[in-house]
Amino acid sequence: MDFRLTEEQARFRDSVLRFAQKELAPGALERAHASGYPWDVAKRMAAQGLLGITIAEADGGQGGTLLDAVLAIEAVASACPRSADVVQAGNFGPIRVLAQYGSAAQKSKYLSRLLTGESVIAVGMTEPDAGSAVTDLKTTAAPVDGGWRIDGSKVFTTHSAYAELLLLYVRFGPGVGGIGSVLLERSSHGVQVGRKSHFMSGEEWTQLHFENVFVPQERLLLGEGGFKKQIAGFNVERIGNAARSLALGRYAYEAARAWAMQRRQFGRLLCEFQGLQWKFADMKIKLDAAQLLLYRAAANADHGLPSAEETAIAKAYCNQAGFDVANDALQVMGGTGYSQETLVEYCLRRCRGWMIAGGSIEILKNRIAEAIFERSFPQR
Ligand SMILES: Cc1cc2nc3c(=O)[nH]c(=O)nc-3n(C[C@H](O)[C@H](O)[C@H](O)COP(=O)(O)OP(=O)(O)OC[C@H]3O[C@@H](n4cnc5c(N)ncnc54)[C@H](O)[C@@H]3O)c2cc1C
Repeated sequence: MDFRLTEEQARFRDSVLRFAQKELAPGALERAHASGYPWDVAKRMAAQGLLGITIAEADGGQGGTLLDAVLAIEAVASACPRSADVVQAGNFGPIRVLAQYGSAAQKSKYLSRLLTGESVIAVGMTEPDAGSAVTDLKTTAAPVDGGWRIDGSKVFTTHSAYAELLLLYVRFGPGVGGIGSVLLERSSHGVQVGRKSHFMSGEEWTQLHFENVFVPQERLLLGEGGFKKQIAGFNVERIGNAARSLALGRYAYEAARAWAMQRRQFGRLLCEFQGLQWKFADMKIKLDAAQLLLYRAAANADHGLPSAEETAIAKAYCNQAGFDVANDALQVMGGTGYSQETLVEYCLRRCRGWMIAGGSIEILKNRIAEAIFERSFPQR
C-alpha cells in the first residue's frame, strides 16, 4: 500500500494550487461574504479544466478520477474556501448523476452550459415533511399526455436562488420503489419561487413550489425504482461535501498555525504555550485521519461510484473533524478568529452546515451501524 500521490496526481494538484493562488486567492475574503453564485470563478475554472474532472471526455469532461476532483477541492479551498463550492457544483453534485444516468440527448442539451460555468444544476430532495426520512417525499409526478405533471414543494435546495436546472426527486407511485427523478427547467410554467432565506453560512436558498408543472417524457432521468441509483450517485456528492469540510478545517488550521507563530502574549509566541501546542497536535491528528478516510473512499471509487459504507465513514468523520478543527483554530486566534477580518469564522459556519447537509452525521452513523451488524435497522 502506498499513501503517496502518484507523480501525475501531484503534478495535477500543484497546477491547481498555482492557478488558485494566482487567480482565486485575491478577493477570497470578499467572495466568501458576497451573495449569489461566483460565476466569474466558474468561468475561470471551466477554462482551467476544473469542471467535469470526473466526467467522460466523450461528454465534454476531463475523464479523470474522483480522487483528482478531491485534490482539486483541497487545492482550491486552500486559496479561496468559497471557490471550493464551484468545484463541488461542477464535479460532485447532481451534474455527476446527470452524467451517470442521463440519456445522450439530455447530456448534450444540458452538460455543455454546466461545464462552461454558465449554468448550475441543483438537487431537490428535501421537503417540509421529508428531511432525513427523504423517502417520505410527497412531490408527485403524474402521467399526462407526452410526459408528467409535477406537484409539490422542496426546501433547503442549495443553488435554488439561481440554478437553471433542477434534478428533482419525485414520486411516481407509493413506497421507496415509487421514487425516481426528472430534470426540470426552473423557468417552466408553474414553478413558483417562494420565500428567500439564508443558511447560517450566508448562502441563499428559496422555497420551490410546483403546481401542475409539465415535464416532457424526454426529461425523465430515472423512473420508478430509480431511488437506489440516485443515492448511489448522491454518494459522490457526499464525497465532495466531506472534502470541503476537511479543506475548510485545514484552511482554518493553517491560518491559526501562522497566527500562533507570530502573535505574542505574556512576552512569548502563542505556539510556545503547551496548552495551545496540544490543541494543534489534536487538530493535526484529526485532519490526517480525515484525509486518509476520504482518500480511501475516493480512491476505491476511481471512475465509478464510491461505496456507501466508505463514503458514510469518510463523511461522518470529515464533517466532525472539519468543524472541530475550525472551532479550535478560531479559539486559538481569539477575537481575530471570531471577527470577519479572516475567513476562520466563515470556515466554522460552513463546516457546521455540512454536519446536516447531504445526510446528517446521525443518519450516516445509522448506515455504518447497518454495515457493522450486517442487517438493516428500519427507523420507522
Ligand atoms: C447547508 C445545507 C445545504 C443543503 N442543501 C440541500 C440541497 O441542495 N438539496 C436538498 O434536497 N436538501 C438540502 N439540504 C437539506 C438537508 O438534506 C436536510 O436538512 C437533512 O437531510 C436533514 O433534514 P431536516 O433538516 O429536515 O432535519 P430532520 O430530518 O428533521 O432531523 C433533525 C435532527 O434529527 C436527526 N435525526 C433524524 N432522524 C434520525 C434517526 N433516525 N436517527 C438519529 N437521528 C435522526 C437528524 O440527524 C437531525 O440532527 C441542505 C441542508 C443544509 C443544512
